[in-house]
Amino acid sequence: MSPKDLPIYELETEFLASLRGEGRVVVQAPTGSGKSTQIPQILLRHGFLDGGEVVVLQPRRLAARMLAKRVAEEVGTQLGDIVGYQIRLESRVSRATRIRFVTEGILLRQMTFDPGLRGVNVLVFDEFHERHLYGDISLAKALKVQRESRPDLKIVVMSATLDAGALKDYLAPCATLVSKGRAHPVTIEYLPKAVSFEAEPVWEVAVRECERIADQSAGDMLVFMPGAYEISRTIQGIQGSRALRGFAALPLHGELPPEAQDLAVTRTNTRKIIVSTNVAETSLTIDGVTAVVDSGLARMARFDPERGINTLLVEKIAAASADQRAGRAGRTAPGICVRLWSEREHGQRALHELPEVKRLDLSEVVLTLKASGIEDLRAFTWFERPDPKGLDRAEALLRDLAALAGPTSSITEIGRRMLRFPVHPRYARMLLEAQERGSVRPVAMMAALTQGRNFLLRGVPRGVEEAREELLGEEHESDFFLLMRAWRYADRANYSLDACRRIGVHAQAARQVGPLFEQFLEVAKAEGLDISEKRVDGVAVRKCVLAGFPDHLAKRLESSTLRCDLVHGRRGLLARESAVGKATLLVAAEITEVGGRGGEVNVLLNIATSIEEPWLKELFPGELKDVREVTYDAEAKRVVARRDKRFRDLVLESKSGSDDVPSTEAAALLAKEVVAGRLSIDAWDESVEQWILRVNRMAEWFPEYEVNPIAPADRLTLIEQVVYGETSARGVKGRDVMPTLRDWLTAEQLAAMDQVVPERLTMGNGRKSRLTYSKEGPPVLSARIQELYGIEGRFTLGQGRVPVKIEVLAPNQRPLQVTDDLSSFWREIYPKIKPELSRRYPRHEWR
Ligand code: ADP
Ligand code: MG
Repeated sequence: MSPKDLPIYELETEFLASLRGEGRVVVQAPTGSGKSTQIPQILLRHGFLDGGEVVVLQPRRLAARMLAKRVAEEVGTQLGDIVGYQIRLESRVSRATRIRFVTEGILLRQMTFDPGLRGVNVLVFDEFHERHLYGDISLAKALKVQRESRPDLKIVVMSATLDAGALKDYLAPCATLVSKGRAHPVTIEYLPKAVSFEAEPVWEVAVRECERIADQSAGDMLVFMPGAYEISRTIQGIQGSRALRGFAALPLHGELPPEAQDLAVTRTNTRKIIVSTNVAETSLTIDGVTAVVDSGLARMARFDPERGINTLLVEKIAAASADQRAGRAGRTAPGICVRLWSEREHGQRALHELPEVKRLDLSEVVLTLKASGIEDLRAFTWFERPDPKGLDRAEALLRDLAALAGPTSSITEIGRRMLRFPVHPRYARMLLEAQERGSVRPVAMMAALTQGRNFLLRGVPRGVEEAREELLGEEHESDFFLLMRAWRYADRANYSLDACRRIGVHAQAARQVGPLFEQFLEVAKAEGLDISEKRVDGVAVRKCVLAGFPDHLAKRLESSTLRCDLVHGRRGLLARESAVGKATLLVAAEITEVGGRGGEVNVLLNIATSIEEPWLKELFPGELKDVREVTYDAEAKRVVARRDKRFRDLVLESKSGSDDVPSTEAAALLAKEVVAGRLSIDAWDESVEQWILRVNRMAEWFPEYEVNPIAPADRLTLIEQVVYGETSARGVKGRDVMPTLRDWLTAEQLAAMDQVVPERLTMGNGRKSRLTYSKEGPPVLSARIQELYGIEGRFTLGQGRVPVKIEVLAPNQRPLQVTDDLSSFWREIYPKIKPELSRRYPRHEWR
């Protein structure tokens, strides 16, 4: 089939017209229609690239590289000539390049440094439905550029599936072109019962299903797996299967060498089973596939703004992705797709994946936007707004790195310089620090070591561990240093598989470090850093690591375990194989959340570097603080004084004791405990409460004495005075109360108190009876009936000012009657209850 037969050409005339008209076009056509390979060529053929180029933004590096190669072939030129690509730290372009495939931040950076986008005629945003971070943001920025300085710039947004509605509004005015494509029907099968991949590995299930459907179609098979490891296990399984002997098994993922990647998409005579990551979902079309086996899994990058951790966990794909994957079987003929999950479970899957802008670390993007003069990121015209927490978090990290500062978090000089380095802001910051400390080479090396996958295998057998120690030597300061030595060893051995295997090095991954290192050095040199060879100063290099990871500072809780406290209130576990196992203070270049078996999640600290405390003061003079805190320790049942040395919120050192606890603070803390009812003072009993009530009623009834009432708030003050000088619960319990309380009143007030609001009242017969005071209502005199014989009339306090109620008690102290006036009691009530009472208490006197 000639490329000209591809469905995209049905839209060609309309496409050209809209491009000349609105200048903004949405092209929506199914995977395989020819969008990625043909649209740039259409632009080239119709003169849109005269005197300029088209930049095609791709979400995946693998796709960018392979598309460039394919288009170069179709155009009939060398890669890097008319057609080229540029991905992070790797570039094949020249002055002749008219079609440039790029990934990630390359376009955004270009727009930042050159808002006029000189030499760019057309921008194409491919695979927009994937909603990659840079797709979203670069498009927003491109619209701004087009509006403000480049009305002639053409913008094309392409996607395999898209809810075009929202996009149309966002881009308006724009043309929307839709092609249905030519898909064949795909039969979808589910597993009859859900399989647990814990019990049966996903690659085994996949191989079994491949065997089952091998004869149901004549074409090639495509198996989707989450990552390189699962892919290699699946390949092994296929190669070991008798039923699949006729098939060639081919892996496809980003970590393979380019030749191996090409092999997977090249047509051959033997039937193939391609085992791929989700790059084959919509980014790359593999012709001839008629059967798809879908694990339903993908490795998904996700930033957790709550904890500030980037996670890379295997997750279940959304239903929309599963449909795309199934579609890969119906490109050339009717096909079949087996999903390795049950139909019932399918109904529970999310319909769409959350866009990256909602789930990734935004720091690099935020720095770039700030550099292009966008101060208020919340007011930026996002296609979809990020989580405000994600923005806060990115800004916080950039402030930590001194890239942003001031009340509106504006970009600093350091921030601007950092942006020149196409690496994560942390590594950019480290390179700048390295320049100050004469350590650019080793820091560039460290940056190179952490870009790809980890090549120093973890959890290796003892023998390998011993060989490592023998060949690489001991290391206690930084895992980076061990990585460097391991890489040098592998490099010297020319990445020989045997040599690498001996010390547990992944040769392929290690091989990629060298070119990266060279590229980092080039970038550094281009920015004027000193990249000359120097003796490596371990301390200087470790300080650079600290400069890039101040928010990953961790303190070991105790030397016997690997548990650590981290800044920002997090906890983690230092990796067992870390070389800095003895360090108490460290920074981890990698904090990963690892999903373990059975669903538990561990926060693992990898690639650690030991840190000395004085460096914190040197690098972050404002962030090291001495904090003194006095608290009530409920367990020790006493007030303790703690003296913390903290870096941000991380406690580096803590001393505590009850010796130098200031009495005032101790009293306040203890009083609070007493008021809350968690501590008690034995002597503070009902009589004390009565005393307080008497004071308060005296203030109310006898204002002439000018007594201050004891309000609830005064109680705390009084208790503070009572417990003053104590530090423990025990001391509080034994405190005397009344001497302090009496001080509330003057001597005259005290003397008057016994007169006007007495504790007891002397009655006509000379007996004394207790008065009970309450918050409200009159005082109550309680007396047994026998004590009241011969007493008549009413009682009052203060010469008739406050009437007293009389509570008449039975001999057993139970209340019989409450009255204001004893005379009426004797007259009306007493005769009625006397017979019954005298019968019940015959031994008492009944007058
Ligand atoms: P779309 O972007 O619409 O998904 P593409 O432009 O990527 O479509 O692909 C169109 C067609 O070009 C594919 O169906 C395939 O036949 C062919 N093709 C694309 N890339 C390659 C490649 N690297 N090798 C072989 N064929 C390719
Ligand atoms: Mg495409």
